Amino acid sequence: MSFKIPLFDLNFGKEETAAVVATLESKWLSMGPQCVELEEKFAAMCGSKRGVTVTNCTAALHLALMAMDIKEGDEVIVPSLTFVATANCVRYVGATPVFADITSLDDLTISVDDIANKITPNTKAIIPMHFAGYPADMDRIMALAKKHNLKVIEDACHGPLSEYKGRKLGSIGDVGCFSFFSNKNISTGEGGMLITDNDEIADRIKLLRSHGMTTMSYQRAAGHATTYDVVDSGYNYRMDDLRASIGLVQIGKLQADLESRAKVRSWYLEELKAIPGIVIPFQNCTEFSSNYVMPVILKESTAEKRDTLRDALHSAGVQTSVHYPAVHRFSVFERFNSQDLTLTEYVGDNEITLPMYAAITRENVRYIAKALREGLNSGE
Ligand SMILES: *Cc1c(COP(=O)(O)O)cnc(C)c1O
Repeated sequence: MSFKIPLFDLNFGKEETAAVVATLESKWLSMGPQCVELEEKFAAMCGSKRGVTVTNCTAALHLALMAMDIKEGDEVIVPSLTFVATANCVRYVGATPVFADITSLDDLTISVDDIANKITPNTKAIIPMHFAGYPADMDRIMALAKKHNLKVIEDACHGPLSEYKGRKLGSIGDVGCFSFFSNKNISTGEGGMLITDNDEIADRIKLLRSHGMTTMSYQRAAGHATTYDVVDSGYNYRMDDLRASIGLVQIGKLQADLESRAKVRSWYLEELKAIPGIVIPFQNCTEFSSNYVMPVILKESTAEKRDTLRDALHSAGVQTSVHYPAVHRFSVFERFNSQDLTLTEYVGDNEITLPMYAAITRENVRYIAKALREGLNSGE
């Protein structure tokens, strides 16, 4: 079925096509000058010293944990209200994910009180996720990390250019990880980026990204090197220049795209505020946000009621999603610690994600709000 209003729409034009064609015609398709330029521009945009392109954010999270020597026997505290990659990456290095609850129905980021409850002598790192580009409480997370000597990896997939007290998300912890998957704020098909101020971590990650080899084919082709050693057991997690050239166009459009999304969000707040049966998370947050998604949570509801309402919205031509089914409930994570995750479970059962992208009109938002109100009323 094709939706009248889809959940997401690409912000693509002729510029992306032209960039790909130019890269094709350059005949350098794999990781090369476009990736380097994207790394430099992206890191500068975030106020970080180094950027490293990778195949996707999942690879970025994996390499971040590897570069910090996190391994079997170590525990990493992660949210459960996130995309599964935030927890899967912990398993890649043989460590144990420990799930923490969210702060409240109003603040869907990881609860710092619950992180504090779940720290043990084996805890080595925390991976906060900035939900929809709204920041986790980084001051308190960094203070806890300092006190217990923990690393902080920001899963900033939702939040390029989003801010926390004047700093860009992803640039506050030891490492920040971003995704350029098709439906993210920056879309290159697949793609990702890791940023850090730590040269040692950046250099180690660059090695691990390409088999642990000390030089790359681009350097060798350019005559800068003729041979290489393999000094670590790395992966092939390289991005390619076709995607990087799309990314360069996309970051040029990002600020304007986010400003349009902020306008769409303000229309949603106006249209939805009179609906009594819902909570709009982050309603009072004044930080600049990417508004990656537009979540609402049904009050005094159940998963069945939520699913019925989603069906009604779909019949009205409005595509919706759920961010997120609680990760600790997936069967692969059943054997891990999942104490005290009641808010996460409630949101997983009762959240609906409404359409959000730059080209949504005021009319669209009014239509969606009406469909939501009617769906809620008929469910009573
Ligand atoms: C999209 C996403 C990821 C994974 O990114 P990929 O680039 O698809 O690997 C991880 N965490 C969060 C919060 C995401 O939204």
